[in-house]
Amino acid sequence: MKKNVYILGSGFSSLAASCYLARAGYEVSVLEKNAHIGGRARQWKHQGFTFDMGPSFYWMPDVFDTFFSDFEKKTSDYYSLHQLNPAYEVVFKNQNIAIPDNLDAICKLFESLETGAGKKLRAYIDKAGDNYRLAIQNLVYQPGESIFEIFTAETVAKLPLFFGTIKKDSQRLFDEEELRQIVQFPVLFLGAKPAQTPSFYNFMNYADFQLGTWYPEGGMYAVVAAMVTLAKSLGVSFKTDSEVVKMVIDPKRKAVSELHTQKHVFFPDIVLSGADYAHTEQLLPATYRQYQESYWAKKVFAPSALLFYIGFDCEIPNVAHHSLFFDTDFERHAAAIYDDKTWPEDPLFYASFPTKTDKTAAPNGKEAAIILIPLATAMQDDKSLHKSYFEMILSRLSRKVGRSLQEKVLFYRSFGIDDFKKEYHAYGGNAYGLANTLLQTHILRPKMKSKKLHNLFFTGQLTVPGPGVPPALISGKIVSQLIQKYVPV
Ligand SMILES: Cc1cc2nc3c(=O)[nH]c(=O)nc-3n(C[C@H](O)[C@H](O)[C@H](O)COP(=O)(O)OP(=O)(O)OC[C@H]3O[C@@H](n4cnc5c(N)ncnc54)[C@H](O)[C@@H]3O)c2cc1C
Repeated sequence: MKKNVYILGSGFSSLAASCYLARAGYEVSVLEKNAHIGGRARQWKHQGFTFDMGPSFYWMPDVFDTFFSDFEKKTSDYYSLHQLNPAYEVVFKNQNIAIPDNLDAICKLFESLETGAGKKLRAYIDKAGDNYRLAIQNLVYQPGESIFEIFTAETVAKLPLFFGTIKKDSQRLFDEEELRQIVQFPVLFLGAKPAQTPSFYNFMNYADFQLGTWYPEGGMYAVVAAMVTLAKSLGVSFKTDSEVVKMVIDPKRKAVSELHTQKHVFFPDIVLSGADYAHTEQLLPATYRQYQESYWAKKVFAPSALLFYIGFDCEIPNVAHHSLFFDTDFERHAAAIYDDKTWPEDPLFYASFPTKTDKTAAPNGKEAAIILIPLATAMQDDKSLHKSYFEMILSRLSRKVGRSLQEKVLFYRSFGIDDFKKEYHAYGGNAYGLANTLLQTHILRPKMKSKKLHNLFFTGQLTVPGPGVPPALISGKIVSQLIQKYVPV
């Protein structure tokens, strides 16, 4: 008889794992707490507008290609991709800088802003490209069971890069603060301050400038839909509104023997959790948990966020599909997130206007907008604060576009720290998992296989390799290989 695998959650890592495991011959069921599939990448439709609730940057297209090619498919079998030009625009206090869609043009742009910067950037991206290839070939697809997985002559030669930081590198390379901030931007996806992110992660700059920023027609949710179609074709079954509330242990076998939702009890051979790690362990009796509260409390989490999904009654001029508002003090905002854990006074924010590329995101003549303000985790949340931040952001946006937008808002929905906790059981309301710092890389991340229960596994942004959609796809692949190794079909 086929062994069954029950997967908690339907985020990208769970979806990826479900496909690999079903193809390997397991009977796979996905249990999702919420009414919709996709985890943090789910979609919200309202009054003819469509919003991606989570990720919006499609980076590292090669990782998506690898995923689908593992199943003899292509991304184009499921969705169309468009490369964005500009990739994104950065709004600074005194100028706006639009990042073009190819490295030659980006080097020219850097040169126009600082003499010599174009040449320096090209050399930097060349090296970052080496790191990218090394990371993809030797590092990120490893399960983090042993340090020897990643020891090769080539990786050892890169060790010094784990002791420099992206912030220092950007300061060494460029004098202009704007250029430094542009180079620091991509590592924000890894969840920590550039001052805490090892230089090796400059491969994110290669991903940004060389591999480009893409948009799947229909939004990031098109990728979720593609993976669900693939998973179903491989025999995976999906149950929504199925929150796992308890795991029962068979102490003799040292195994999870029952999974309880509010309505059903399931009898798993294997359990894979793509839900937040700390929450999953809370579903176990205390003696079977590997990591205590004190462990999580010491970790550097990726920020939480305050999000606004806005329907505007008009098109918004003078903005790019992806617009980064870096027109306030980056250091002060970063300190509020990571050091002081306070609500930022004058925050940086990210604004997405998918309608600039995809007219289906909003009714004709209207604009869908998504605003994201990074915040510290574990702060007291408060809906009245959401309202005041909304007004603050709207007036900054109005200034940028040169017209008052206040009376153009048809509706807005806010989503904050408490929503991350309530909707996804996110530790401290984190938006995208555990940051990639030196001490939270590879074997130093929470383990994919439980040390206490032989049939319990973990995947997703709190495990290897880390936060982001491409890492989630990779995480699902790695854990499915571990499951096949330890509990063969
Ligand atoms: C606002 C935002 C913007 C982002 N932007 C980008 C971006 O532009 N590009 C990028 O690459 N990445 C981005 N990310 C990060 C990326 O979206 C995530 O790293 C990735 O989607 C996480 O996938 P996952 O599989 O680890 O987990 P999740 O997507 O969090 O899935 C976990 C699932 O588990 C479910 N669950 C929880 N508890 C239970 C339970 N007890 N029983 C059953 N189910 C349960 C949850 O409901 C959820 O559906 C962003 C994230 C956010 C939040």
